Amino acid sequence: MDEFAFIDSIKQRSYKQSSLLKGIGDDAAVFRQTSEDIVTAVDTFVEGVHFSRDTMQPFHIGYRALAANISDLAAMGATPAFFLTSIVKPESWHVQEVEEVFIGMKELANSYGMDLIGGDTVSGKELTISITVIGYVPGGRARYRSVAQKDDIVFVTGTLGDSRAGLHLLTENNLYEHTEFFIQRHRTPTPRVEFAKSLINISRIALNDISDGIANEAAEIAEASNVGMLLYDESIPTSSFFTQFSMKQQHEWKYFGGEDFELMGTVSRQDWPSVKQAAEKTNTNLSEIGIVTEKNKNSNVFIMKDNIKQGLNKCGYTHFR
Ligand code: ADP
Ligand code: MG
Repeated sequence: MDEFAFIDSIKQRSYKQSSLLKGIGDDAAVFRQTSEDIVTAVDTFVEGVHFSRDTMQPFHIGYRALAANISDLAAMGATPAFFLTSIVKPESWHVQEVEEVFIGMKELANSYGMDLIGGDTVSGKELTISITVIGYVPGGRARYRSVAQKDDIVFVTGTLGDSRAGLHLLTENNLYEHTEFFIQRHRTPTPRVEFAKSLINISRIALNDISDGIANEAAEIAEASNVGMLLYDESIPTSSFFTQFSMKQQHEWKYFGGEDFELMGTVSRQDWPSVKQAAEKTNTNLSEIGIVTEKNKNSNVFIMKDNIKQGLNKCGYTHFR
């Protein structure tokens, strides 16, 4: 199969978004948007660095790569609309396997009514997938990290550390329980789009998605907002079967594991009931996990654990270090 047959195989036969004038098939895509703010992000996934065929089927690789991108849109409060995919294909990958990657992406894209509107396909050494997503948010309602204020409530959706636990289960042969749950959280995570959209009536709310671990995302909000943060260790939500892992694993995975694609944020006490309502309406687990403080001297984020206050460093996976 040549490049053209491949592109034809991933091309949609019809568009879902009414604003789309031209998708795949010309030099560039065209859509028309007049009223809302446009939100866009790109993420790149390299085999051996961001995923491995030992723990993921091609379907999961596509699904999770797009989920990570959609999660960025959710963290901005945006509604996903389009995506573009750039693929570097090595000889060792069959075209059929790359098509499976696209089937994984499309499964998730369909659930949001997103259209694949373009991309690029080239040969190279490592399978590399770069995805650009585009979404909409009502004017002035994009959610920035920089708006946290002292005395805000810090919250997080879902449970943390599950994805990292899932990866552990896929690479270790030990006997564990409820492996399917953790593996599913690792391979096919659900971005919190509906929850973030339901916060529309709140005028000020900081949001960040958990891609690198809450330690890192909390520090990002604190830095951008020029504030500090205190998190209560016992309030960090974990799933019921998380206790089967060692204390050290639990601690590391919930703070630094990442890739849960949950949302964390800060909001005023006054608007906290509206956040709870949004969670109820969208069937989202929501936990209050801390408070925004004045900027600290040594560490931006502290945790209160066993009645001892200690600095939490970022320690997530950071490239170029
Ligand atoms: P051009 O030479 O004009 O850049 P290409 O041959 O690279 O055109 O691509 C033809 C069409 O197929 C374009 O609409 C492009 O966006 C789309 N396309 C190519 N590769 C991909 C891909 N991996 N995913 C989605 N669309 C793609
Ligand atoms: Mg091209």
